[in-house]
Amino acid sequence: MDAPLSPGLYIVATPIGNLGDMTPRGAEILRGVAAIACEDTRVTGKLLHHLGIKARMIRYDDHASDNARDGVLALAAQQPVALVSDAGTPLISDPGFKLVREAKARGIAVTSLPGASAAIVALTLSGLPSDRFLFAGFLPNKAKARREVLEELVAVPATLLFYETAPRLADALAAIGDVLPGREVAVARELTKKFEECRTGAVAELIAHYAAHPPKGEIVLVIAPPLAASPSEVDADTLLREALVHHKPSQAAAEVARLTGLDRKALYARALDLK
Ligand code: SAM
Repeated sequence: MDAPLSPGLYIVATPIGNLGDMTPRGAEILRGVAAIACEDTRVTGKLLHHLGIKARMIRYDDHASDNARDGVLALAAQQPVALVSDAGTPLISDPGFKLVREAKARGIAVTSLPGASAAIVALTLSGLPSDRFLFAGFLPNKAKARREVLEELVAVPATLLFYETAPRLADALAAIGDVLPGREVAVARELTKKFEECRTGAVAELIAHYAAHPPKGEIVLVIAPPLAASPSEVDADTLLREALVHHKPSQAAAEVARLTGLDRKALYARALDLK
């Protein structure tokens, strides 16, 4: 028999759709802990059943009362306790940050067992630059707030990653087309599952595709960096054409000048020709 686990908090990543992606080490830890803190005992119960593990589960999220957090931490100070989320890596748009922060403040050992995270799977599948990326969680639901978040990130010289849901995809793509015209975008859907799909292209193409084929399931949006930071060659005419869909020639020229560093007056003249 393996040696018993030391006390502490064990952050364990779980599959994002394909149960075969549970790591052997993660499963071994789940088998060996005194309790598993999880978002939803039914969801984690199914995973444990699949793995043939019987374990005590404690419902936990970061909105839990301080008492509930204290309970998990008091246990982790004495015994091994795992933290899992419904799917993927805990703390990544999922509960756990407050628990980990407080565990470290109390001197409780924390260890993290890597595994699936939808953002990384999407980035690697997208065909967009992977050397620098910024993961920004979920885009806000409300149009104004969504726009503000995108505007805040417009000049970031990195690939952008957002979590999304199928019913909100059309609104998100429309906002991206408006605020970040000319960017290549990937829609990564149902990753690791039977109907996995990753479609990369111009925003207008993606909007048209998903209007004709309403998407289902879970989605990650991946947005290419501004042109100057991107190794892929998209010419200024393409950017101007996209910008002209929503903007007057002067605004389109200003937008493309900001994205590319090209001369605004020359772009304006070209925008008038294209119009
Ligand atoms: N902690 C998780 C992780 O590490 O990926 C993410 C949890 S977050 C609450 C759920 C979101 O992750 C979904 O709305 C979707 O954007 C993304 N996601 C999770 N599983 C996915 C999958 N199989 N395919 C595409 N996106 C997925």
